[in-house]
Amino acid sequence: MIELDGVIVGGGILGMLIGLEVEMAFPGLDFAILEKERFVGEHSSSRNSGVLHAGIYYPFHSLKKKFCIEGNRLWYKMGEEIDIDVKKCGKYLIAINEDEIPFLEKIFNQAKENNIKNISWVKKNEIEKLRKIINVKKAFFSKETGVIDLGQVIKEVEKRVFKKRIPLLKEHEVLDIRRGKNNIIVETKDEVIETKFLINACGLDSVKIRKKIGLDDIEEYFVKGYYLKYSGKIPCPSLIYPIPDKNLEGLGIHTSFDSDGSIRFGPNSFEVNKIEYEMKDDDITKKMIETISKIYKHIDEKKLHLDYSGIRSKIKKNGQYYDDFWIKGPKDLGIPGYFELCGIESPGFTASPAISKFLVRKLMNECLSF
Ligand SMILES: Cc1cc2nc3c(=O)[nH]c(=O)nc-3n(C[C@H](O)[C@H](O)[C@H](O)COP(=O)(O)OP(=O)(O)OC[C@H]3O[C@@H](n4cnc5c(N)ncnc54)[C@H](O)[C@@H]3O)c2cc1C
Repeated sequence: MIELDGVIVGGGILGMLIGLEVEMAFPGLDFAILEKERFVGEHSSSRNSGVLHAGIYYPFHSLKKKFCIEGNRLWYKMGEEIDIDVKKCGKYLIAINEDEIPFLEKIFNQAKENNIKNISWVKKNEIEKLRKIINVKKAFFSKETGVIDLGQVIKEVEKRVFKKRIPLLKEHEVLDIRRGKNNIIVETKDEVIETKFLINACGLDSVKIRKKIGLDDIEEYFVKGYYLKYSGKIPCPSLIYPIPDKNLEGLGIHTSFDSDGSIRFGPNSFEVNKIEYEMKDDDITKKMIETISKIYKHIDEKKLHLDYSGIRSKIKKNGQYYDDFWIKGPKDLGIPGYFELCGIESPGFTASPAISKFLVRKLMNECLSF
């Protein structure tokens, strides 16, 4: 039996940033990050759009809004301090016809209510310029939205974890967690660990892991999305987003940029029942190309190629989509030392530095008071 002060389960962006925050708040604390894969960030953290959201869409009192706004600011600050490529390219949110305008206006009003900085309606002459590229009736621009190079960030954050000598154990899948007498027992294939605290940052597997410790009040479900790379050019240096799905289950098929500046479209959304990232050139892709062609005027469909896919980590409570981050600790759940992050879908990457700081404050208040 190994004894530790803490275990963080999951080496995605959240597990690693939380590790760095724990080390900063409690230097010398004996804790480890356990990751089941051979590499860190293999799941959602490297399979997303790499967009730093501004916090436009989310309800005023939501954790999504709070942590997205703070996280957006923190990533730009980190971009100035360390070697990561963060670009504040801005984004257009567009209505392509009259019918979409009321929803676009609703989103604009939400953004205003959320006090999002630097959003404005696009003027007529600029709309005319955009019409050379896309079908657009009305649009607003968000200056604070940006893009981040995911691969580079994951590498840089992992380097920082190593520099701080935080044990990050890959190919260490947590198979079981249960309550001990005054602690939590964690089992991997080869070890049994006794720990004072455990942070479940397992992304798509977080609900599966919480069930092991006896929590069954939420269910997970998975929504997959494809990305298509475009080998042609679209002369717009800012992101272009359509209006989102009505219930915000997805933000719509939008543009994003690769580190080499090339354009990518995605993600679409369809429910799946297992975590696998295979992509097929089938009806799903065809429909996606149709949607893209409805917005972009000069798309050469032959230049669209399957790129990669990602799976959104969604949760339901009482059978209903739970549309906020689920971040709980001992005070909420009644399990001493146990913390969890579930349903960390978009804008989870943007929000991750802010969530990490919040979680460590929670750890201080609800578990470690030295
Ligand atoms: C299609 C898509 C588009 C998105 N677009 C954006 C965007 O543009 N902007 C944005 O801000 N956010 C976006 N997001 C959300 C963002 O990707 C996630 O919120 C973020 O990456 C979550 O990070 P994480 O560390 O919680 O999860 P992950 O990166 O999935 O990390 C969880 C880790 O836990 C490990 N793990 C799981 N089970 C175990 C176990 N039993 N033992 C040990 N390790 C385990 C996994 O291997 C994994 O490495 C998007 C997500 C998707 C899917």
